[in-house]
Amino acid sequence: MPDLDHPEYKTPPPEVDPERLSLVASISRNMVLILDDAGTIQWANPCFEEYTGYLLQDIFGAHPKDLLNGPATDPEKIRHITQKLHLAEPFEEDILFYTRPGVPFWIHLYCVPIGVEQNVAPGFIAVMNNISDRKHSERGLRIAASVFDRSHEAIVISDQNNCIVDVNPAFSRITGYNRSDVLGLNPSILSSGRHSPAYYRAMWRRIIETDHWRGEIWNRRKNGEEFVELLSISRVHLDEPGRYYHVAAFTDITALKNHAKELDRAVNYDELTGLPNRQLLEDRLRNARSHADRQQKNLSVCYLDLDGFKAINDSLGHAAGNQMLRILASRLAQTLSSGDTVARIGGDGFGVILQSDNHDAVYERILSTINEPVDTGSGPITLTASLGITRYPADSADAEGLIRHANQAMYSAKEKGRNLLHFFDPELNEHRQQRREQLTELTQALENEEFELYFQPQVRIAGCKVVGFEALIRWNHPHRGLLQPNAFLPTLEDSHLEVPLGQWVLKEAIYQMNLWRDAGEDLSVSINISAWHLMDRSFTRYLENYLHSHPTVEPRQITLEVLESTALDDIRRASSVLARCQELGFRIALDDFGTGFSSLTYLRTLPVDLVKIDKSFVRNMLNDASDRAIVESVIFLGQRFTHPILAEGVETMDHARALRQLGCDYIQGYGIARPMPAGEVLEWLQQWHQHAAIEGDDMEPLSAGEAGN
Ligand code: C2E
Ligand code: CA
Ligand code: CA
Repeated sequence: MPDLDHPEYKTPPPEVDPERLSLVASISRNMVLILDDAGTIQWANPCFEEYTGYLLQDIFGAHPKDLLNGPATDPEKIRHITQKLHLAEPFEEDILFYTRPGVPFWIHLYCVPIGVEQNVAPGFIAVMNNISDRKHSERGLRIAASVFDRSHEAIVISDQNNCIVDVNPAFSRITGYNRSDVLGLNPSILSSGRHSPAYYRAMWRRIIETDHWRGEIWNRRKNGEEFVELLSISRVHLDEPGRYYHVAAFTDITALKNHAKELDRAVNYDELTGLPNRQLLEDRLRNARSHADRQQKNLSVCYLDLDGFKAINDSLGHAAGNQMLRILASRLAQTLSSGDTVARIGGDGFGVILQSDNHDAVYERILSTINEPVDTGSGPITLTASLGITRYPADSADAEGLIRHANQAMYSAKEKGRNLLHFFDPELNEHRQQRREQLTELTQALENEEFELYFQPQVRIAGCKVVGFEALIRWNHPHRGLLQPNAFLPTLEDSHLEVPLGQWVLKEAIYQMNLWRDAGEDLSVSINISAWHLMDRSFTRYLENYLHSHPTVEPRQITLEVLESTALDDIRRASSVLARCQELGFRIALDDFGTGFSSLTYLRTLPVDLVKIDKSFVRNMLNDASDRAIVESVIFLGQRFTHPILAEGVETMDHARALRQLGCDYIQGYGIARPMPAGEVLEWLQQWHQHAAIEGDDMEPLSAGEAGN
């Protein structure tokens, strides 16, 4: 430190060159104006020109206030300045001025009168300091302070040692602590003890790494009450390196949490029993499913339904019923291991997910726990339940699918009886699913008229006369081409579609007969009638109505082919239906004769006009002695019962000759012709007649059939 009292410093300074002195004003970073005694501008320094945008030559002689005033300039201050200038007194003022383009800026104005004392002409020197930055930060601070004071969020500022430096009023409101209670203390005074030290360690680690942490924390108010807060902590670094403080802001979300909890209960739990509801069951099942995938474990999904619960509810009343459900629910919950779930998913239905091992034992336990008597006040009652079970991953359906399958299995269990369990069979289900899809496709095919009848001639051996055509259905599948009946009829069997399809065949066949009649050929047609269709209650009524509305149809020309194996499960009813058909004038053929079990009975009992020997016997009759024996005996029986016999599957002339020798009346088969579209029938007939005329009555036309097909 230099010694200012040293004599050397006391010598008077040398005169400074006035030119040099005037440079001070010119190069100053402050704005400088020299005014005359009337307050008008005599000189402005370059800084003033640069900053305000006014050049000295333009503003010489002007009053500064006329240039620098703007809309937000305080008029009071202008008045004050004017007064001071008038009195030639020095003054200082912070004031808002405007640049030439109109940009506002804050200056600190310092103005002193000059004159005789300084040995210069009277006037003023005004020095202006731009203080816009300071003004802005002052404003910022004011806003920050009001945010701090008025915020609904509690704000805690703590120093580097995490000692509280300041808290805002919201902090006091939420925690109950006054500012003076907590200044200098560690915010851990709020700790509820609910979180582990590891939780806080992780929090601080995060703050150190990222300067920020956000999460939920349970704290305790001054009155001891616990509350949850949503807290965010920021570490704010100061300009000095390594120096920082913390700003923690939090809101009390206890009410929100409670509300969310109630909402969760309402959404995910059953009110009556407190068990999870279906939605939560599905959620848990989704998780259990992926867990099982990872652990390569099995799951059981069960659907438990009480047997006859409605009756109990009705007789004992709803209150007792509810009580019973509550008791059973808690018993079920106790039966299961910790990882398992039981949910109430219907009136008296419960869903169960088993994740633990040894499921078989649990199924039994579930059923037996239901069997234990329940007493709701009016004496003990013993209940039973039906349990449907499906197992993942053998059944690979999604959560909803698994529950649905368990439900299906539960219905199967009910069908078997009570107090039973039934396992869902994924393969069977797959099969059923496919069948459903095929049936839908067939329904559409019927609507889209994709079916077509082919016709195959039936010939009397004696005289080679064509006596009729069998109508055989085909499906013009849009993608798979022409399909034979064995590709789609099995699907149709025993389904609701059999009747509409059978009716379509009847109508279509009759339509064709009419077309041929119009063309001069009166042809008979054989129509295959399925068992289901024949036994349908409305079958004969349908025929009656049909004949009634189509008086030109000649029922004598229509043969209804009924499969022997239509088995005429109910032979009495079948007899009466067939008799009724005969009354209406239709002819009846017993199809595929010999393939059923009680051929003889049928032959004796059923009203029949024709017996068709199945092609499986005919085809091999030439080289298989037993098939030949069957053919022989059917023909023999037919003769005994005076039923004409038709052999189908006649593929060659040799077959035909053998059949003629055995006394068979009619034949049908590829040897004569393959089934053909309706449009080809008349032309085929013509050819057949021509051959017959040439060859006479000795079956030679068969070779034409053989050659043609
Ligand atoms: P089906 O009543 O026994 O009909 C005779 C079947 O034998 C026909 O097969 C026919 O094409 C075939 N066939 C005819 N001649 C010969 C031959 O010389 N050799 C051989 N190997 N087969 C011959 P398709 O048309 O495939 O019909 C199969 C079965 O489908 C029919 O057997 C019948 O039970 C059923 N079906 C066909 N159309 C209908 C229909 O419109 N309604 C009902 N309900 N069933 C029908
Ligand atoms: Ca047939
Ligand atoms: Ca047949």
